[in-house]
Amino acid sequence: MVGSFAVHALVDAAGPIDTTNREAFPGASEDDWAAARALDPMAFGPDGVDGAWVLPFRAFVVIGPDDHVTIVDLGVGSSASPAAAWAPGPGELPEKLTALGIGASEVGTVVLTHLHEDHVGWVLGRAGLPMFGNAEHVIQAAEVAAVADERAIVEATVDPLRSFGLLRQVDGPVSLRPGIDLEPTPGHTVGHQSVWLTSGSETLLLTGDLLVHAVQLVAPSVAYAAEDDPVAATASRERMYAEARRRGASLATAHLTEAFVALP
Ligand SMILES: [Zn+2]
Repeated sequence: MVGSFAVHALVDAAGPIDTTNREAFPGASEDDWAAARALDPMAFGPDGVDGAWVLPFRAFVVIGPDDHVTIVDLGVGSSASPAAAWAPGPGELPEKLTALGIGASEVGTVVLTHLHEDHVGWVLGRAGLPMFGNAEHVIQAAEVAAVADERAIVEATVDPLRSFGLLRQVDGPVSLRPGIDLEPTPGHTVGHQSVWLTSGSETLLLTGDLLVHAVQLVAPSVAYAAEDDPVAATASRERMYAEARRRGASLATAHLTEAFVALP
């Protein structure tokens, strides 16, 4: 619970990927790695920093206010999704939503923090149609523009959402509902956004890929090799960590072993 909001972290898929920890974060120092391993030992397999990066791919369900259902990010998706070629197995989000007692038609809002393959997997369900047919899908316009030449992503996200009238492009900070606010956090991608959840005295920051690994929690200036703009990404992390500390917020992360973490 975050005040009157119920927040559920759902792991769509999890496991090692074909990238070592060190390859993903080549600028991290041995001290950074030691701090990251203390905080999130499960991100490292038996071969440690030089072994595969082990991570979950997570979506967050937010219920409230007034029982409105919002999902933030949609995981790796089905065996037909763009991420299927490299993700550690097809996703299980539909079954996990069912287990929570939530039908796809009850979801009113989907927030996509960005349009990478591992965050948009369930835009389309197994039948190839939008899975959340009653939901507006909220994406920064800069992000939509940035992927215009990426056919596989556009065909799995922007095109079907647009043709079903489910695409809502926004430009900059937006308040979706009382206590649910979007803030642009560029760097990982051009149009990346994060989500503030505020209720009473409690605040949660749903980070998306503002950080992707514990090493970026202990050392915000450590770049991820796949970041679009490492300088902007570091600036976004430092700004948002400072604001989260000011607000006493914890973080809800897509890829750390623990869904909910405190800033160190
Ligand atoms: Zn990601």
